[in-house]
Amino acid sequence: MTDLLSRLKQALGPKGVLTDASDMEAYAIDWRKLFPGKPLAVVRPANTQEVAAVVSLCKHYGTALVPQGGNTGLAGGAVPDGSGREIVLSLSRMNALRSVDPIGMTLEAEAGLVLKAAQDAAEAVGRLLPISLAAEGSATIGGVIATNAGGVNVLRYGMTRALVLGLEVVLPDGSIVNGLRHLRKDNAGYDWKQVFIGTEGTLGIVTAAVLRLLPRPTQTVTVLVSVADPQKALDFLVCAQNELGDSISAFELISGYSIKLVEQHFGIKCPIEASAWYVLIEAGATLSGLREAVEKALEQALESGLAHDGVIAESGKQAADLWLLRERITESEAKQSKSVKHDVSVPIPTIPDFLQAAEEALAKAAPGTIINCFGHLGDGNLHYNVLIKDHDPVLINHMVHDVVMAMGGSISAEHGIGQYRVAELESRRSEPELHLSRQIKTALDPLNIMNPGKVLSRQGSPS
Ligand SMILES: Cc1cc2nc3c(=O)[nH]c(=O)nc-3n(C[C@H](O)[C@H](O)[C@H](O)COP(=O)(O)OP(=O)(O)OC[C@H]3O[C@@H](n4cnc5c(N)ncnc54)[C@H](O)[C@@H]3O)c2cc1C
Repeated sequence: MTDLLSRLKQALGPKGVLTDASDMEAYAIDWRKLFPGKPLAVVRPANTQEVAAVVSLCKHYGTALVPQGGNTGLAGGAVPDGSGREIVLSLSRMNALRSVDPIGMTLEAEAGLVLKAAQDAAEAVGRLLPISLAAEGSATIGGVIATNAGGVNVLRYGMTRALVLGLEVVLPDGSIVNGLRHLRKDNAGYDWKQVFIGTEGTLGIVTAAVLRLLPRPTQTVTVLVSVADPQKALDFLVCAQNELGDSISAFELISGYSIKLVEQHFGIKCPIEASAWYVLIEAGATLSGLREAVEKALEQALESGLAHDGVIAESGKQAADLWLLRERITESEAKQSKSVKHDVSVPIPTIPDFLQAAEEALAKAAPGTIINCFGHLGDGNLHYNVLIKDHDPVLINHMVHDVVMAMGGSISAEHGIGQYRVAELESRRSEPELHLSRQIKTALDPLNIMNPGKVLSRQGSPS
């Protein structure tokens, strides 16, 4: 190990290798502080060649590497285990914005560039990088690609995968593959970049990317509406889509309990009457008439009884205040109680059935739990968190996931598997799907040095 560390220092220089426990502290534990690890070292390469040099050395010594971006992941994927033998490879020094092209509508950046900086660069040339999440001030381009991040604009623009045009990666054998093409259309051979999107650093290290930009809407309208139940929210989604087409970028379902939590812990007042459920909608357009179309859709919803009450933001400040009601839910929940979190998706029409079945199952087997549910209704993705006292979290987890599976859903809609959900994934996915995943892993990483134990168990991976 000493030999490896001194060769890493030779390759990266003194700034590139951290070994003091205090220097490594922030890299050793995840954002939720659920998965404390113990790195052998933290390496901070300055460019792709240095990443390749680190990977080659780790391959030579059979030492595992854990890629890390902003360390905002919610599945414990970016932190090492507790053995003291894994190396964290932080992309934080590789944060150059290489180009922004408003005509070809592309942005090229190194993997460590913070998402917000990339959004701002796109805005500066009148374009939109639509990947948007509450962690955007720390999450990195490499991290959002490695997790195929979702966020609030998926309904209109798709997940991160839909916005990646080109990638540069360092493979587990230390070789560099450069596919940084700025092309909208490229059907020449296998689209190999897909293998590295959403695979959480288990197959290679993303060192740079080309992302697709979009025209920036010149008008945005934000609306908060109260609805009686999730079925009404769903009917309203259909009605709003008929009226507003694909100008809707966010259609968020929020339970009355979630709103109460935010009111209680942050003193933010919901501007419409109390209700069991709410919907927060954002629409954007470049052509005029959006506001009138939104008013018409809201009027129709109120007249037909789909909605009880609603407010359209009159200013940017009011829109931001409405969004705070949504954005502060997670922090309010953390202040309120212990919880078991689920990031699930089900086919959109089954959302009301899912909610009813999950509530019934919990009432029967775990009385006294409280459901804090909110999420991206338009994507079929719910954050279904269960506030517990002395209940068994594992039992609750299985119960909720059983209902999800019965509806044909997924146990991870956007946060990934990391180390948090490995056992759940392996017990829920079919053997042929798992076998295929292991074959891909073995083909690219036969020594299992790339983020071992994440997404797939160590047991099932090559040794
Ligand atoms: C408050 C909050 C809100 C959030 N909201 C959302 C949301 O709405 N939607 C959503 O999808 N997620 C959300 N997240 C989760 C998180 O922000 C995303 O998963 C984000 O994409 C992680 O980026 P990161 O740079 O922090 O990656 P990290 O946390 O550093 O890493 C995440 C995973 O990617 C791997 N990785 C990181 N960089 C690279 C690289 N260059 N090459 C290969 N592998 C790499 C890591 O090994 C790890 O497995 C939220 C998190 C927080 C804290």
